[in-house]
Amino acid sequence: MDQIPQPLLTRTISLLQRSEHPLLIAHPRPDGDTIGSTLALRLALLELGKQPTVACVDPLPGNLDYLPGAEAFVSEVPEDADIDLVVAIDMSDLKRTGGIYKPSWAGRVPLLVIDHHETNAAFGDVNLVMPQAAATAIPMMTVIEALGASITPDIATCLLVGVLTDTRGLRTTTTTPHVLNVVSKLIEAGGDYQRIMQRTLDAVPYRQMRAWGVALSRLKLEGKIGWTDIPVEAKERLGILDHDDLNLGNLLSHLAEAEIVAAFIEMRDGTVKVSMRARPGYSVSEVAYALGGGGHRQAAGCTLEGPLERIVPLVLSRLHQAANDRDPGC
Ligand code: 5GP
Ligand code: MN
Repeated sequence: MDQIPQPLLTRTISLLQRSEHPLLIAHPRPDGDTIGSTLALRLALLELGKQPTVACVDPLPGNLDYLPGAEAFVSEVPEDADIDLVVAIDMSDLKRTGGIYKPSWAGRVPLLVIDHHETNAAFGDVNLVMPQAAATAIPMMTVIEALGASITPDIATCLLVGVLTDTRGLRTTTTTPHVLNVVSKLIEAGGDYQRIMQRTLDAVPYRQMRAWGVALSRLKLEGKIGWTDIPVEAKERLGILDHDDLNLGNLLSHLAEAEIVAAFIEMRDGTVKVSMRARPGYSVSEVAYALGGGGHRQAAGCTLEGPLERIVPLVLSRLHQAANDRDPGC
C-alpha cells in the first residue's frame, strides 16, 4: 500500500541522477511537509555532488526556520535560470508552485512531481504520487534511500518534521504502524524529535496566537459545521501578513461538536483562503477540488475570489452537504 511501484521509482531516480542543477519547489504558505521534504531532498542531492536550488514564493514560518538548509530558500527563480530538472514537492497542481514554475520551461526542462494528495492532477512528466502516504516525506525517504544517499541526522530531522506536522503529531487516521515505524527509523538515524516537538509542533508565534483569539471569538457552530473567519481589518490590526499560515484548520479541528470545520481568511487582494478539516467518516477533499483547490479527505483547502460575505455561505452550503454524506471510503 505504501510501496512505490518499482518502474515509477526507477524513472524518478533516473531523472534525479541525470540532473546536475535541479530546482526543488515547495508550495506557498509552506508547511512542515513541503519544507521538510524539500530540504531533505536538497541535502541528499548535495551528498551526491549535485547543485540543487530550493524555492518557495513565501518566506518560511518561524517554526520551521531552524531546519538545516532553511536559509537556502529563494523566493523567485528567473526564467533563464540554469536548471535541468524541476521537482514540485507536496503539491497537487502547477498553480501551487505560486508562480515559481515558468510556462516556458515545459518541454525544455523535465518536471518531476513528488506528492501524496489524492487530488493530484498528475501534472508532471513523472508523477510519484502516493495518496495513501501520511506525508510526502514518507515516499521522499524511499527516494533518498534509492538514490544511494545516506539518511544523515539532518536529513532525518527534515523528513521527521514532514511526518510529524502532516499527522498533527501522529493523530490522524493516516498514522499507521508503518508510519510509526518510519518515525522510529528517523529517530534512530538521528532525527531531532524533541526539537521538532518544541520548535515546530508546540510553538505558536505571538501574532498567530492573537489571530487565534480573533478566530475563536468569531467561532460559530451550525449543525455539524464549525466555522470562523478573519476579515482583513483584523489582520491589519494584529499585523498579520497574507503569507502567515495561521494553522486555523488544525486549531478548529479540536471542536468537539463539529464533524467538519472551516476557516475563511480574507486576503489583501480580495481573495479568501479557505482551510477545511473533516473528522474520519467525512471528507472535504471533493469540496475543495470542486472549488479549484485540493487536499486530502481530512484536510483540504482552496482560494476563492471574495468578498467574504459571498464566499462563506457558498462554501458552507457545500460543507453541510458533505456533512450529510458520510464518506464510505473512510
Ligand atoms: P491548509 O488548510 O492547511 O492550508 O491545507 C490543507 C491541505 O490542503 C494541505 O494538504 C494543502 O496542501 C491542501 N491545500 C490547501 N490549499 C490548497 C489549494 O489552494 N490548492 C490545492 N491544490 N491544495 C490546497
Ligand atoms: Mn503534505
